[in-house]
Amino acid sequence: MLMYDLIIKKRDGRELTKEEIGFFIDGVTDRTIPDYQIAAFLMAVFLRGMNARETADLTMAMAESGDMADLSEIPGVKLDKHSTGGVGDKTTLMVTPIVAAAGVPVAKMTGKGMGHACGTVDKLDAIPGMRTSLTKDEFIRIVKEIGISIIGQTENFVPADKYIYALRDVTGTVDSIPLIASSIMSKKIASGTDCIFLDVKTGSGAFMKKYEDSAELARIMVDIGKQTGRKTGAIISNLDMPLGTHVGNGLETIEAIRVLKNEAGKDLTDFALFMASRMMNLAGLGDIEKCESIAKEKLESGEALFKLRQLISAQGGDCAVIDDYSLLCRANTIAEIRAEQPGYIRHMDTLRVGMAGFRLGAGRESKDAPIDYSAGIILRKKPGDYVERGEVLAEFYTNKDEKALSGAREELIEAITMGDEQPPAEKLILAYVDETGIYEQ
Ligand code: URA
Repeated sequence: MLMYDLIIKKRDGRELTKEEIGFFIDGVTDRTIPDYQIAAFLMAVFLRGMNARETADLTMAMAESGDMADLSEIPGVKLDKHSTGGVGDKTTLMVTPIVAAAGVPVAKMTGKGMGHACGTVDKLDAIPGMRTSLTKDEFIRIVKEIGISIIGQTENFVPADKYIYALRDVTGTVDSIPLIASSIMSKKIASGTDCIFLDVKTGSGAFMKKYEDSAELARIMVDIGKQTGRKTGAIISNLDMPLGTHVGNGLETIEAIRVLKNEAGKDLTDFALFMASRMMNLAGLGDIEKCESIAKEKLESGEALFKLRQLISAQGGDCAVIDDYSLLCRANTIAEIRAEQPGYIRHMDTLRVGMAGFRLGAGRESKDAPIDYSAGIILRKKPGDYVERGEVLAEFYTNKDEKALSGAREELIEAITMGDEQPPAEKLILAYVDETGIYEQ
């Protein structure tokens, strides 16, 4: 088989066989296919697409390119969740303890954030002492003992994706639905769980800006789950405004703890309960109504918070963070950002809010660059709120200098559109997707 022939075949819009796709991924993994041919092939896929069968074959070949986790030692229906990520996205930390408290084993391998978006590993690493790099045996033992463990991905985890993603990043081929779907689902499949729950974000703070694209991505990923024997469900959630009020690693961890203490905003708590109940339903705990009531009970009784405490302690972290937030955020400078004019906040360009956080030090400038866990933003006003001139819009937390602070201030002010009329309230959850279809909420 020649890589040249596969490039021509896809360039001309023809369907590739499973063997051809396997040949491509093997050649990427053992580095026998040169970058220029991989890049040409990715561009052909970007332009011509892939059908459902090709996308599922690509996903499985990628999943099998490195270590495949075997979780069969853990009894029960194991669950993993994945978010396509975005500004202020702390869903894993607020939702997985609720699900685990209800008895569904959560075994999650997760990635670091890049640029302005913070990853779940970074939020856990904000907790002093917390270990997110565990051996396979430790990971399995902790899930067996307490029903939840969350760790970073290992070195040999889906190596084909690491290589392909790096090339996509520099060849204008990131925004291809079959390439995104196979990238995400290969990692979920290699993680070895029985159920996969996806949170596909849409809007200005998300990777996919348009609802239609997010819905298509969700539908294709659910279909890959079905074709590869994993029960998969998804929600499409709105990231056209920041999720909750806290942005930045330590601050997002604080907000997730506040959800589990029943102290966070109602919108965020309702979001957590919606998601947790759909995850339980997917794992077979009962119908939606029953799962909603279990989720509420686990949150209100404090069992979900206790589960987070157990998780932190099992992975070596300092549980004092649950009561002493200063352990998660020790910024030298805390600055209040005030409104320059009165009016309603009509819109917040969420990507720009993320960029403001990035300027304060909350993001990662390159793959292995350090991040400041204390840096970030607490929004005191959100879209729909009325503000007086001079009222506090947000608090900035940073260890950077005045120049960074004023750049972030400018970014935030420009992110906000003000007006005389209150905008209509926006929904956080736009649709639920499973094997039977897309259900708008
Ligand atoms: N997240 C991934 O893991 N892969 C993509 O291609 C896009 C988002």
